Amino acid sequence: MKKLDISKLDVLAMMQFDACTRCGECTATCPTGGEAQDVELVTPRGKILKLRDFYRRQYGLRAKILGPKEIPEEELKELTSRAYECTICGQCRAVCPAHLDTIPMWENMREFLVANGLAPLPAHESIIKSVENYGNPWMQPRVQRSRWAKRLDKEVKIKDVLKESCEVLYFVGCTAAYDPNIRDMAINTAKVLAKAKVDFGTLGNEEACCGSTLLRTGLVEEARKTANKNIAMFEEAAPSLIVTSCAGCYKTLKQDYPKIGKVDARIAHITEYVLELIDSGRLKLDGRVDGRVTFHDPCHLGRHNKLYDQPRRILESIPGLELVEMERNREDARCCGAGGGVKTAFPDLAQKISSMRVEDAERTGAAILTTSCPFCYQSLKATIEAKGSKLRMMDIMELVAIAADAA
Ligand code: SF4
Ligand code: SF4
Repeated sequence: MKKLDISKLDVLAMMQFDACTRCGECTATCPTGGEAQDVELVTPRGKILKLRDFYRRQYGLRAKILGPKEIPEEELKELTSRAYECTICGQCRAVCPAHLDTIPMWENMREFLVANGLAPLPAHESIIKSVENYGNPWMQPRVQRSRWAKRLDKEVKIKDVLKESCEVLYFVGCTAAYDPNIRDMAINTAKVLAKAKVDFGTLGNEEACCGSTLLRTGLVEEARKTANKNIAMFEEAAPSLIVTSCAGCYKTLKQDYPKIGKVDARIAHITEYVLELIDSGRLKLDGRVDGRVTFHDPCHLGRHNKLYDQPRRILESIPGLELVEMERNREDARCCGAGGGVKTAFPDLAQKISSMRVEDAERTGAAILTTSCPFCYQSLKATIEAKGSKLRMMDIMELVAIAADAA
């Protein structure tokens, strides 16, 4: 009989399983649970109880006396599938009265499933191979990573941080670098940094995937490999600050890299840094952008990192722009549906969640929906188009670039 290998299960996470009071607060708020109310296993409570049950059947007191009980293949497969339907949005952590730190629990659960040969899901295999072979999850050639910068005017000078020292390293991230619909995020970021006369550069074609996608799908060893490439280059370039466009890169560099290697530089999301530039007077937002805007909090920026005020203060600094909040905002913001590998493995589910978020935005009466993460942008924009919504999706750096007369 195959016994589950529990060596990858975090002891603290295991102790937390016992703290779950089964109150069900999380089931009411989970975006995937909300989509499948009839399937208890998709909810946080369901997954916790199932894993706890597996553990007891094989390692509990009864198992020690009478021998471990086999867990049928179908049950293992079902837990695996349900574990990967989670966007790791962190909403369950925000509402849990027992204060269970669910985000690392879900990531650890996936690591455990990978260790037992139950994961990754077939849909995620191509991402793993792509990061390994191309240094990005989008199967794009390494030599085209910095191609986005070709659209910039000659006045915008981007240094090669591996050849010249500079104050700020702009970590572009795979999606902003490669996705033709998202490249403007990188272009506008570079324009805004240049406008504020920031001495900045990038790793160019040498930049590797941050590893976020791998970490969130439980592929910790594979993530370490790509992270270590970046960490070695950070050390060589030795910037004092690293800024990211992507909320996922931000979380990975800020929270995960210190567990993998040594990063001396301060890590900031672009919204944090741009606000500092505005506050210090280095960046002036004098241009008007008339209209009502609503802001979607990316989970990796908001609930995962408590970064709520910076993007809002930037939007409030833009003349003519009126910020209106969605009913669910900040810690209570609904997920866009794309995180945790859900969009790749369960596109219909991702679309349904994203649809609910677009409807949240529509109810505000805003003309513009903005955010500060390429994944959220991609997911919400696709839904706006599919629904034929009147909302206009704009990246926050596009609004800043217009207001700074840098666009
Ligand atoms: S992290 Fe989000 S999607 Fe995952 S179980 Fe918690 S509330 Fe549901
Ligand atoms: S909210 Fe927390 S304690 Fe309540 S069922 Fe969910 S995980 Fe368990």
